[in-house]
Amino acid sequence: MSTETFEFQVEARQLLQLMIHSVYSNKDVFLRELISNSSDALDKLRLEKLWDDSLDADVSDLHIDITIDQDSRTLTVRDNGIGMSYEEVGRLIGTIANSGTAKFLQELKEAKDAAGQEGLIGQFGVGFYAGFMVADEVTLITRRAGEGQGTRWSSRGEGTYTLETVDDAPQGTSVTLHLKPADAENQLHDYCSPWKVREIIKRYSDFITWPIRMLPEADPTATGPDDEAPEPETLNSMKALWARSRDEVTDEEYHELYKHVGHDWRDPLETIRLQAEGTFEYQALLFLPEHAPHDLFTRDAKRGVQLYVKRVFIMDDCEALLPPYLRFVKGVVDAADLSLNVSREILQQDRHIEMMRRRLTKKVLSTVKELMAKDRDRYATLWREFGTVLKEGLVTDPENREAILAFASFASTDQDTEPTTLKQYVERMKDGQEDIYYLTGESRRSIEDSPHMEAFRDRGIEVLLLTDPVDEVWADAVGAYEGKQLRSVAKGRIDLDAKDDDTPDAEREKQAEDYAGLLAWLTEELDEDIKEVRLSSRLTVSPVCVVSDAHDLTPALENMYRAMGQEVPSAKRILELNPEHQLVKGLNQAYKEREDRSELAETAEVLLGLATLAEGGRPKEPARFVKLMADRLERSL
Ligand code: ADP
Ligand code: MG
Repeated sequence: MSTETFEFQVEARQLLQLMIHSVYSNKDVFLRELISNSSDALDKLRLEKLWDDSLDADVSDLHIDITIDQDSRTLTVRDNGIGMSYEEVGRLIGTIANSGTAKFLQELKEAKDAAGQEGLIGQFGVGFYAGFMVADEVTLITRRAGEGQGTRWSSRGEGTYTLETVDDAPQGTSVTLHLKPADAENQLHDYCSPWKVREIIKRYSDFITWPIRMLPEADPTATGPDDEAPEPETLNSMKALWARSRDEVTDEEYHELYKHVGHDWRDPLETIRLQAEGTFEYQALLFLPEHAPHDLFTRDAKRGVQLYVKRVFIMDDCEALLPPYLRFVKGVVDAADLSLNVSREILQQDRHIEMMRRRLTKKVLSTVKELMAKDRDRYATLWREFGTVLKEGLVTDPENREAILAFASFASTDQDTEPTTLKQYVERMKDGQEDIYYLTGESRRSIEDSPHMEAFRDRGIEVLLLTDPVDEVWADAVGAYEGKQLRSVAKGRIDLDAKDDDTPDAEREKQAEDYAGLLAWLTEELDEDIKEVRLSSRLTVSPVCVVSDAHDLTPALENMYRAMGQEVPSAKRILELNPEHQLVKGLNQAYKEREDRSELAETAEVLLGLATLAEGGRPKEPARFVKLMADRLERSL
């Protein structure tokens, strides 16, 4: 078959351009990326052969070779792993499947300065394309294990690549970089230097469990068959970091392992080691990343850690080892007593795995708690990036609820910048305050301005300002903390401490009597949407607000359940009037005086619309609402 030329997918082309005009200063990492891919490919082949012994592949000496050719200025990384089919090369190398690519590129465009761009590239990681930081041409030859024909891919990184089939490709993949000239100013080292290559491998890839060998260059002075061919040299120690004693491993080494398993270019925020001895022995090396991946909330996102059995890689993305709300945790778990051909299905039911999951979960949660105590900044980063996911655990993992609440923190009316924990909130509670108050909404601003907050603001009662969709769900599920009810200020009756209330009881009763007729009439008038109209004790400035009954779902929750495909009935809400407001007083007056109440009925509709708008909702019939409002404004001119 002849050579065919293809265009890179748009996103891939843009990323390549970035690599070529490299915004990323540490160019040495290209080699780490190629070796990381080769290591994955060797893992995959070993597993595939384990599952299917009839696979026509040689697994007797799985390894990675590095060859340097000074004359042609090429560096080749070759593995005898799983390889790729013709179709796979086009799909895996010509496109970028990461669902966050478009968003990432947009952010990249917006980041004007080089430092911002470098940070973003590091966050995204660009794997194979990193080769184009140091090479002006990359050629890849690969043959999928078990297949007869190989594929040759080649590109100069300028928008197109070529593909052709080759007959004599060895099993696995070789990537040959035609190196750019060394250029110290741009941190482009001489990657033809065996010394440099040795150093990079030692620094970034020492823990790789497959041998990385450097083949000596052909010696031009060799004269005859008597000269012994020099032996290849193994560059890495291959020691699994989690099997080495703690003080033997540097932070940098841990970080490089993280980059390999996490497909991230940045250092992790925290490294967690755990060693379980006894009847079921295992070691875990877990990492908390510094940034959330773009696909944290997509269904098909990769999650879970790598599972090893006695240093041998068994599976990627092992979901059984951590609960879904810890899906951002990366790392390696090495269990001594599992079968090598354990399957995902078996793992889901295995008693030992269940024990491991509980222990690992507790360890991660206690680490976050410690982080909060010892390093506020790093804790704040973690909570900003993963707080939303961790809060899912409050709903799905009652066993660890307390542990999560120990470090969960929230914005509050009392704190301008620092979020508060529930514990801190309780410590600040006023004498006589019995409940923990919160309000949910789209943004801090919109919650603070909500009419529901008025009485609380007046009395200086602290309210938690919750802006994540999951907040309403967990607040509902958790219910109480240290015996204090969690109460939404937009739900149920609010009866703030009577001591502070300067309205005497007798006066209240008179007020109730005075409004009784209007309230009854309005309740009937708005019956379709509202279950009750009553006087409010939470309003001081606004005329009206809508609230939910204490045990009803709020509109936001209803929407969320519907988005998840669940049928939920629409709960009618309650309209509250501020008896001290001039508009409400006037309305009462008009109600008492007029026989014809058709105009008043419209006013009632407008009031309901206003109350809905004030809490961030939308009136039932927006166009009609606008018309009614416009009519009234016109008359007031
Ligand atoms: P990532 O490793 O994060 O998936 P890369 O850009 O490094 O992203 O690689 C893209 C894909 O190309 C890999 O997921 C893998 O499927 C394939 N690939 C790259 N290098 C090799 C290799 N040496 N052998 C087999 N497949 C490879
Ligand atoms: Mg990779």
